[in-house]
Amino acid sequence: MLPIECPCCGPRDHDEFRYGGDASVTRPAHDDPDPEAWYRYVFIRANPAGLHREFWQHVIGCRQWLVVERDTRNHAIASVELARKSPHSKSLARKSPA
Ligand SMILES: [Zn+2]
Repeated sequence: MLPIECPCCGPRDHDEFRYGGDASVTRPAHDDPDPEAWYRYVFIRANPAGLHREFWQHVIGCRQWLVVERDTRNHAIASVELARKSPHSKSLARKSPA
C-alpha cells in the first residue's frame, strides 16, 4: 500500500489513483514545428533514482489531477499538490508585479 495524501480528500491508498505520467516534462507549444521538441516530449524520459515529479489522478475520489513528488528508490512521497492552480490563485498571480 502506498498512501497518497490527496489535498481534497486526505490520505488514500494508491489504488484509488491512476498514474498520469512524468510531470517534469514541458509540452511544446501547440504550433511548435520542431519535430525534435515533439520527439523529446513524447519519447524521452529520465529514469531518476530519487525524487521524481509525477501526475496522478484521484479517479476514485475527487478526480483531481495531482503532482506527486515521489522517491523512486523507496516510494516515499515528499509532496502532493493540485496540478492545476485554482482560478483564484491565477487571478492573484496576474495581479502581482512582474
Ligand atoms: Zn481526492
